Amino acid sequence: MDLKQYVTIVEDWPQPGIRFKDITTIMDNGPAYKYATDQMVEYAKTVGAEVIVGPEARGFIIGCPVAYALEIGFAPVRKEGKLPREVIRAEYGLEYGKDVLTMHKDAIKPGQKVLITDDLLATGGTIEASINLVEQLGGVVVGCAFLIELTYLDGRDKLEGYEVMTLIQY
Ligand code: IMP
Repeated sequence: MDLKQYVTIVEDWPQPGIRFKDITTIMDNGPAYKYATDQMVEYAKTVGAEVIVGPEARGFIIGCPVAYALEIGFAPVRKEGKLPREVIRAEYGLEYGKDVLTMHKDAIKPGQKVLITDDLLATGGTIEASINLVEQLGGVVVGCAFLIELTYLDGRDKLEGYEVMTLIQY
């Protein structure tokens, strides 16, 4: 299946000059969403994932059905102040300033094999911070899987040494 045909490009959103890749038109198409999920599931099996990790909010949309299909756990990465128990933190750079991502301190067991999922790899900052969190907890990142990769932003450079899989490239 050519998944790219189900992505909607939104011109000048959220600001002028940005061509936003809207994945809701993959999700609202049952066969396309299932196909994308099946590809992720196969990849998760290949790398031997024991738990899925995904950053809010679109990382949940990609990662949760994979965890369900494999009957393994899903651990959320969330913005600061959202998780109710003790957390660990990782800062990451935004275009202007910094943001913080967090995970529950007991979300990953030391040595656990982790697949990180998100909808889109742009500069790689979000996934780099997610890797940092998993590794602080002693998890082993066996792969990073994305629906979409914006190759011209060179996010893969930040992920050198990690397995990266993407289903659609621009
Ligand atoms: P990065 O940290 O620069 O790699 O940006 C990736 C994050 O930004 C992901 O969590 C995406 O959800 C979000 N993002 C950036 N650009 C787009 C887009 O065009 N469509 C959907 N999400 C995007």
